Amino acid sequence: MRLAAEGGRGDRLRRAEWGVCLVLAALGLSAAGACRSPLPPADAGTVAPRAAAATQWRHDWARGAVFYEVFVRSFADSDGDGVGDLAGLTARLDYLNDGDPSGGRDLGVDALWLMPIFESPSYHGYDVTDYEATEPDYGTLEDFDRLLSEAHRRGIRVIVDLVVNHTSVEHPWFERACCSPRSPYRSWYVWRPDDPGWTQPWGSGYPTWHRRGDEYFYGVFWSGMPDLDWRTRAVREEMKRIATLWLERGVDGFRLDATRHLVANGPGELQNDQPETHAYLKDFAAGVRRRFPEAVLVGENWTETARIAPYFGSTARIRGGDELPLSFDFPLAEAILAAVETGTAEPVAETLAEIARLYPPEVIDAPFLTNHDQVRVATRLAGDPARLGLAASILLTLPGAPFLYYGEEIGLPNGPGRDDEHKRTPLPWDGAAPGKGFTTAEEPWFPFAPAGPEVSVAAQVDDPGSLLSRYRELIRVRHASAALRSGEIELLEPADPAVLAYLRHTPAETVLVAHNLGARQAAVELAVGPAADAHPLLAGPGATLLAAEGTLTLTLPPHAAGVWRLGR
Ligand code: CA
Repeated sequence: MRLAAEGGRGDRLRRAEWGVCLVLAALGLSAAGACRSPLPPADAGTVAPRAAAATQWRHDWARGAVFYEVFVRSFADSDGDGVGDLAGLTARLDYLNDGDPSGGRDLGVDALWLMPIFESPSYHGYDVTDYEATEPDYGTLEDFDRLLSEAHRRGIRVIVDLVVNHTSVEHPWFERACCSPRSPYRSWYVWRPDDPGWTQPWGSGYPTWHRRGDEYFYGVFWSGMPDLDWRTRAVREEMKRIATLWLERGVDGFRLDATRHLVANGPGELQNDQPETHAYLKDFAAGVRRRFPEAVLVGENWTETARIAPYFGSTARIRGGDELPLSFDFPLAEAILAAVETGTAEPVAETLAEIARLYPPEVIDAPFLTNHDQVRVATRLAGDPARLGLAASILLTLPGAPFLYYGEEIGLPNGPGRDDEHKRTPLPWDGAAPGKGFTTAEEPWFPFAPAGPEVSVAAQVDDPGSLLSRYRELIRVRHASAALRSGEIELLEPADPAVLAYLRHTPAETVLVAHNLGARQAAVELAVGPAADAHPLLAGPGATLLAAEGTLTLTLPPHAAGVWRLGR
């Protein structure tokens, strides 16, 4: 971290060439010699900005792509300190995608989402202290560059978690803001002289105003994570500058943390989804799109469908939306698990209908099963292989960009406790190896989740009946079908409430996807118009689809699924 003198005031200020200079300029203070031109260096390989009005997203690579969420600390440890790191992840890339699409043992994912990798005092990294440095536990910027180039060489895109809503209390911006009300950084956070008594908008009862000195600062998640004040122009410019730095470095986009909380206008619901939040996200997205139209932005808007939909913004001028072109589908995640748990298609069918009604056209949904904030799916479904397989096949045949959470593909359960660490335990690569192949240290940074040796990559990678093989097969089938990857979805209404069935189609291809969520054999007729024949792309034993005279007769054993390409 470099420090530079603020113009004549004696304070030590962090030298963030654009952001600080903008603040100083706004205050009429010049930091002689400390500010460079607010332009990227001429050798950065950048392109000249185009007119925003004309710039469309060019990230069709993300339509249908399969993402894989990695908690670096728990993925693979390269240097024997018990902590997963960037070099460990790089060494394991062939497991995720070896770059050869013709088959093999790799999972075949298209992109990675790295949970926070920036410098942070916590194990999880959501309280950042330096947005320009990698977390020392994880490695150096050179290690990160090597990860990027090795991933790109295999055709894997990499997006990183960008925590835009708040920083750590230990971030130099906050340290300066809190200690000096006259610091230019004071306005980067939200202050007031009294505590208005607001609590977290999700009903925890935890206060969102925290005392520091004579005043109170706003922090919606935790007193250790003060919210940035997005009303302050310099904050918005600084986040754009940081995004630009990482995009220039080669990342393919960002997962944006806690986007619905950027601006708070009062207690309760006024801490969510405020109009200013949408305006600032549009501005941020326009800044990214202008120079990096191939990048993606995925928003974390943990709420209901009707409130997620506006985060795509307007699709009138910008295909895919002028705000966040992807947003995680929390309601659909819950619906998939509820459907698989209860054996009825209704939760998924209802949610898909709601999405069709409320989402703008041609946006990219981001479905998933669970993420790092939720009890793992294997625990939720009591380790039942049939239901885990069903959940996977629903997820990987849906429109949009499905996200897997590391370990999900081998049925990794939660740890025994309720704390978040238990949702983020080290990945068991080889149940029979010391340190389970995750580390050569005597102990990993956090205990492995209790599971037998069959819950490991080594035990499943060559077993055609394993959950890992099912994920791999589903991803291969998805890649081989334009309809599954990027086609429209048309929900069917079979007479049996246990059957979830839908068509995915492009003008050239129609695919039928069917799941029997129930414990009894299902046999239903589906009216789908003329279909000459049905060619199985993936169908378990006993799963059949017979085409005759515009009617398809579907037979599915309990908890079976099938995917067929229809001839017309
Ligand atoms: Ca390590």
